[in-house]
Amino acid sequence: MAKVVAIANQKGGVGKTTTAVNISACLSYIGKKVLLVDIDPQGNATSGAGIEKGDVDECIYNLLVEDTSVEQVIRQSSVENLDVVPSTIQLSGAEIELVSTISREIRLKKALSEMDDEYDYMIIDCPPSLGLLTINALTASDSVLIPVQCEYYALEGLSQLLNTIRLVQKHLNTDLEIEGVLLTMLDARTNLGIQVIEEVKKYFREKVFETIIPRNIRLGEAPSYGLPIILYDAKSKGAQVYLDLAKEVVTGG
Ligand code: ADP
Ligand code: MG
Repeated sequence: MAKVVAIANQKGGVGKTTTAVNISACLSYIGKKVLLVDIDPQGNATSGAGIEKGDVDECIYNLLVEDTSVEQVIRQSSVENLDVVPSTIQLSGAEIELVSTISREIRLKKALSEMDDEYDYMIIDCPPSLGLLTINALTASDSVLIPVQCEYYALEGLSQLLNTIRLVQKHLNTDLEIEGVLLTMLDARTNLGIQVIEEVKKYFREKVFETIIPRNIRLGEAPSYGLPIILYDAKSKGAQVYLDLAKEVVTGG
């Protein structure tokens, strides 16, 4: 049985995609079979995992809206043991098209359950909104990992996300858990970063991952080469912390 983890936060630019791509690649690196599911119309996880979006014929859109089988959509990535359900800009219409569809919230769950025996982990990269695409991701998941950027107002907007998680737990997926809160893009030279860490830990307590992701230039560069950090620069701090995070997820913290 695959463990399914959604990477969610409706704020953009907090490190969702970077985390989804790199935790997936690091889980593969330590021997797990992983499916990275891109449910953001921007398709950044798709290209970050080395898949040319222009070459993609059928993507997650077809799976959600047209009942195309997940097997038909899955692509191999640049990393061994890592497959991808790609997304393209075609998905941007899905949020509206799904509104009138039967069982619109459980489409992803149904599709992914077909491949449940093939993978150890499925990691879902969510879009920066709390609409039907994110609801589909939360409904399909065992747990949700919440990246929080170490900046002013770090906690802002999180109550809306937690509300959405509660609604999904109540109506669609009673087993959904919070995997953890991940602090990202820490600038260790500033006091602000330390303050944010304390603030987030006060609020989420033991739910905060021990691993903290620092700002790391190599992490920002890797996507333009279509490579996860572990392939782009295995010796970098970025590779090391995402490997630590993958191990933390595997051992359950
Ligand atoms: P989201 O998916 O939440 O919108 P991204 O993962 O795309 O956020 O990150 C936003 C931008 O910040 C991207 O350009 C990404 O390459 C960069 N970035 C993310 N994490 C880091 C980091 N730890 N260090 C440096 N740059 C980062
Ligand atoms: Mg993203």
